[in-house]
Amino acid sequence: MHNAGFRELGLDYAYFAFRVPKGCLKSAILGVVGLGMVGLNITIPHKLGVLKYLDHLDEDASCIGAVNTVANRDGRLYGYNTDGIGALRALEQNGVIIKGKRAALMGAGGASRAIAFKLSDHVKSLTILNRTTPRAASLAQSLKRHKNIEVNVRKLTEENLREILRETDILINATSVGMWPNINATPVGEGLLSPGLTVFDIIYNPIQTRLLHDASKKGCRVIRGVDMLVYQGAEAFELWTGMNAPIEIMRNAVMKALRRKSS
Ligand code: NAP
Repeated sequence: MHNAGFRELGLDYAYFAFRVPKGCLKSAILGVVGLGMVGLNITIPHKLGVLKYLDHLDEDASCIGAVNTVANRDGRLYGYNTDGIGALRALEQNGVIIKGKRAALMGAGGASRAIAFKLSDHVKSLTILNRTTPRAASLAQSLKRHKNIEVNVRKLTEENLREILRETDILINATSVGMWPNINATPVGEGLLSPGLTVFDIIYNPIQTRLLHDASKKGCRVIRGVDMLVYQGAEAFELWTGMNAPIEIMRNAVMKALRRKSS
């Protein structure tokens, strides 16, 4: 999506993927400055490890404790996390009103942390449900330290979901349940879904997850993970180039790549 965006704006940039082995992160990051790279995305397993090599951390990335985007400005490295804003934009651009709503977030991993911090500035309450409860509790604790929000923690079980969903406006799946190749898995039984609920699945591979399929069938409003993928990428694009990202061009490139992957 980035190369498509660069082409569209006539920018002489190119985006490449590099596999950085464990133990080579420091030399890879030093290389960013040495080679004069404009910036980079960081993915698993280096999202936390990269922090100590950066000169500046933006507030969101610092609260979340993970970086997915780095910008090189005059040899100084600035770290950001664009996942949360990407999720927020995906909801807003699909017409979902977040202000004052009750949200339930499944998962307590890296993506969930990023989303939780951003959502907390808007929603009335947030319930975090996770398979491993202490991980959700630790996220709730950091949220309470930084944000003024009512936050609850539950173990991710069918019984708890049934109870929570009675009082939820927006349900977000930030677990990896339903991700390729386990495309028939879903974190929420179809019977628990009802019209009036907005269901956002951040998984983008497959584009249409089992959860989204079930939610549509039940009359819920659905938001796809691919939208978050595009918007988090657009944020990074803007941090690197200082220009507005050509969203539709980038979305088309992503859709084309994902469709190619699944065929
Ligand atoms: P992560 O840090 O590894 O967290 C994974 C989460 O899934 C944890 O909460 C984990 O629970 C839960 N989980 C895994 N297997 C489970 C199972 N069988 N039953 C119940 N819960 C389970 O991963 P992440 O980086 O947050 O990514 C999560 C998903 O979001 C991935 O599918 C990823 O592709 C997607 N994602 C999408 C975007 C986007 O732009 N759309 C961006 C980032 C990530 P425990 O804590 O109990 O292990």
